[in-house]
Amino acid sequence: MISELFINAAVIIASISIGNQILISKEITPSSPLKLRIFFGFTSAILGIILMSYNIEIMPKVIMDLRNITIILSATYCGFLSALITGLILALFRLFFQGLTFPSIMATLNILMIAICCAVTTKFTKNKMLQWVIMSMYTLIFPTITFIIIINNRKLLIETIVTYWISTVVTSVLVCFYIQYIDLLRFSYQRYQQDSAKDYRTGLNNVRQFDIEFNRIANGLTDKSIITMLFIDIDHFKKVNDIHGHKNGDKVLEDLGKLLLNSTNSIDIVSRNGGEEFSVIMTDCPQDKILDVAERIRREVQEHKFYLSDDQSINITISIGVAIYPFTVNNIQEIVEKADSALYEAKRTGRNKVVVL
Ligand code: GH3
Ligand code: MG
Ligand code: MG
Repeated sequence: MISELFINAAVIIASISIGNQILISKEITPSSPLKLRIFFGFTSAILGIILMSYNIEIMPKVIMDLRNITIILSATYCGFLSALITGLILALFRLFFQGLTFPSIMATLNILMIAICCAVTTKFTKNKMLQWVIMSMYTLIFPTITFIIIINNRKLLIETIVTYWISTVVTSVLVCFYIQYIDLLRFSYQRYQQDSAKDYRTGLNNVRQFDIEFNRIANGLTDKSIITMLFIDIDHFKKVNDIHGHKNGDKVLEDLGKLLLNSTNSIDIVSRNGGEEFSVIMTDCPQDKILDVAERIRREVQEHKFYLSDDQSINITISIGVAIYPFTVNNIQEIVEKADSALYEAKRTGRNKVVVL
């Protein structure tokens, strides 16, 4: 029996590891997209079905398996709907593929009751650990009631219940610790991914991500491509730091990051390339609109009130250098240098302006 239990636990652990690899960059929560929650409910059910075929004979003629753990997994990760999907599929499988006998009807009812209770529990507590404990209780209580109904021999009943409780608790605790470890791995991975691509202060792309995006665009050019590079630099930003302090300077940078995101399209690539220097790459802006867009960004920044930590507000201005492939540069690799030269020209000729080179 111990070796069968070990096989079941190993199947669950291996499945969780593979699932984690597949979903490593996804947020797996009750508010994940519907498709993902349905997928999770469905695959958890498949795991449950696999576990049913590795059943464990805990007493002569009394078998158990760890299918209920898959309902808990589904509920704690993806919530109400996933738990019901997993439960329903497992119940149908149990009923139609393993015979329409009294024990199988009882087992089906068990699965349905556990799934419904787990689904409802996700509505009452969001604490994953507490959910796990409460849901494990369901997987103990409902089968125990079934054992009491089905098994008439008192000694066999007690032995069955004790063995079932010990097996279930041990596996549940083991899986619970393992998913905590797996969650930590997934969060660390996602954090690492984000940190390597995003600027920590503004949440915009960092210069590394800017390079990656630029190379992707440069390698995917077509005859119809119009690529616009805006290089943006805050005018006299040193003065902001000198007069209002470095912390307020940081706050201005954060707000400017938000403003740039709001005043551009979602497919534009907005980055903080360093200090108080930003860039916007546009891949779908018609040639006759480019200057309007750059001018609008400049004006929006000029008119925006940047609030400081003491609720005082200041105004800042920016200079913008623009280069456009294939109009102002015919080699895409020169666009960065050209936009930088245009920015330098904007600074040299008075600041707070847009210059195209
Ligand atoms: P210009 O109009 O010629 O661009 O003048 P400027 O003062 O903006 O340019 P300069 O290059 O002389 O100074 C840039 C300033 O930006 C100096 C530096 O302290 C500040 N800066 C760079 N990065 C940060 C940052 O992360 N936080 C804050 N608060 N300031 C920063
Ligand atoms: Mg600068
Ligand atoms: Mg500057």
